[in-house]
Amino acid sequence: MSESRKVLIIGSGPAGLTAAIYTARANLEPLVFEGIQPGGQLTITTDVENYPGFPEGVMGPDMMELFRTQAQKFGAQTQFRHVTKVDFSKRPFKVWSDQELTLADSVIISTGATAKLLGLDNETELMGHGVSACATCDGFFFKDKQVLVVGGGDAALEEANFLTRFASKVTVIHRRDTFRASKIMQERINKNPKIDVRWNSAVTKIHGNAQNGGLTAVTLTDTQNGSESDYPLDGLFLAIGHYPNTDLFKDQLPLDAKGYLVTEGKSSRTTIPGIFACGDVQDSVYRQAVTAAGSGCMAAIDAEHFLEEQA
Ligand code: NDP
Repeated sequence: MSESRKVLIIGSGPAGLTAAIYTARANLEPLVFEGIQPGGQLTITTDVENYPGFPEGVMGPDMMELFRTQAQKFGAQTQFRHVTKVDFSKRPFKVWSDQELTLADSVIISTGATAKLLGLDNETELMGHGVSACATCDGFFFKDKQVLVVGGGDAALEEANFLTRFASKVTVIHRRDTFRASKIMQERINKNPKIDVRWNSAVTKIHGNAQNGGLTAVTLTDTQNGSESDYPLDGLFLAIGHYPNTDLFKDQLPLDAKGYLVTEGKSSRTTIPGIFACGDVQDSVYRQAVTAAGSGCMAAIDAEHFLEEQA
């Protein structure tokens, strides 16, 4: 016998758990499948200082534990399950995690996005210890420090500019000799005396120990002649793009040109009535915990209205 739910939430970052808090308080007894990274991207950051209500800051994993506790307090059920297949062709919707099938009258998708990484040894271990994929989140910790930003797109140049508010020097490392970023962003970094650019250069090793002072240096390799040099630094910011976690849904729901789920106007509604999306999986622009939480609230209210209309 398959389990049947009014609301099934896929993903457990700020968007999914906020949707869980709201739908639980509406007595909809939501079930949350937490996925392979319970708590989402915040579990790979350290201090979160820009989430309103935490003037002293809060550790990312602690904050997600608070979100989960709050959702459970109102009756949300959370399970460490990873969704492998969905069928949204008719109601009740079908969601499989491994071989187990769950039926749902409404589904809230909050599977988030994942920052692209370089794939180097040490990179994940040093996240939050000198390595970051989010300047808005972590830039503040690099006052008067020297940092590198990897990437040549708009995000890299925007992050480089932003980091000059704190860092004493920002070096952009790009693997080619031209940026793909817009001209205006290029002009902005050219005018910024704190920023320099190293062309044709790639980070090929990351040095440091998370338990012992964190990041210390990187090895840079010239992409044209292969020569290597070590580069001491305090912070390494990766801005080589994100990918939305939409593989499960690509045959069922429309995605935009960048692969994000499309939602309708100022709502969390997808093109299928009863399927809602919130958080980074449908937002390539803001990508903040607080905006994800806000959109999770919207999805819960949209789901509640939908279920009321069906009753
Ligand atoms: P992009 O895909 O535009 O750029 C990614 C950059 O990272 C490219 O320069 C790419 O190099 C480089 N890169 C990718 N993989 C690697 C790797 N393994 N090693 C080294 N470098 C790598 O992503 P963004 O996140 O910058 O932007 C995403 C979208 O969001 C874009 O459409 C952008 O315009 C938009 N955006 C707009 C902003 C604004 O207008 N203010 C701000 C931020 C983003 P290469 O060029 O060689 O491929």
